[in-house]
Amino acid sequence: MNETEYEVFALRYAYRNDNRASSTFYRFELYKEPEKEYPMDYFFWVVRNKDRTLLVDCGYTRARALERGRTLTASPTDLLARIGVTPDAVDHVVLSHMHWDHIGNVGLFPNATFSLARREFEFWTGPYADRPCLSLALGDEELEAIKSLERQGRLFLIEDDTHELYPGIRLITSPGHTPGQLVADISTRSGSVVVASDALHYYDEMSLDRPFHVFTELEGMYRTYHLLRSLAARPRTWVIPGHDPVVSSAFTEVSEDCLDLTAPIA
Ligand SMILES: [Zn+2]
Repeated sequence: MNETEYEVFALRYAYRNDNRASSTFYRFELYKEPEKEYPMDYFFWVVRNKDRTLLVDCGYTRARALERGRTLTASPTDLLARIGVTPDAVDHVVLSHMHWDHIGNVGLFPNATFSLARREFEFWTGPYADRPCLSLALGDEELEAIKSLERQGRLFLIEDDTHELYPGIRLITSPGHTPGQLVADISTRSGSVVVASDALHYYDEMSLDRPFHVFTELEGMYRTYHLLRSLAARPRTWVIPGHDPVVSSAFTEVSEDCLDLTAPIA
């Protein structure tokens, strides 16, 4: 593997089985389809090569899982250990967006720097973030932890719509679900892995062009699905949604709940 290619893993740390289509898609009644179960998985992602180890997002704490009625199957540190990563070996964490289920464990990584889109940071520290329809997706503790990273000089705020974080890792700002949702386009030995995080919760959003029910900009959601479809149309490219249980059966499991995204199951 050369220095611009990475291994990429999805680590599944939690799930919920009580989710349905009508609580997944915006205005689901428009499609005139019967109600259906939509189980939800929770992942974060590891991106590494011989030079560096990065995460995309870092999950939530056991306390938050209890509070929100989610089932946590393993702590992030236990999952990382299954693929040989210790928290102090994590160099950098890309925060795809500032929803509680993606940024809850930033304190676990003492040697890491972090990146986040500037427009995401400014939105959640701005005048409208405390409105109930928005603030339900972000806890005070999580917000404080991100502000603290910024004060410590450990938070890199991305200005550009497309940003090369390291050779072989491109971050694309894709507004819609949140104002500064990031998508990571990563080079690997087997092609490109696009970690969409919550730019795409489920593959069905992209294939059926159906917006998820939580967003700050509806047109942006459609634009982002279009972008993801065009990325997926490139040769040897795998787009990875943030919450779809299909991921667990589509890629090779190297250890329990640790999926090698460079090894799709044909
Ligand atoms: Zn999420």
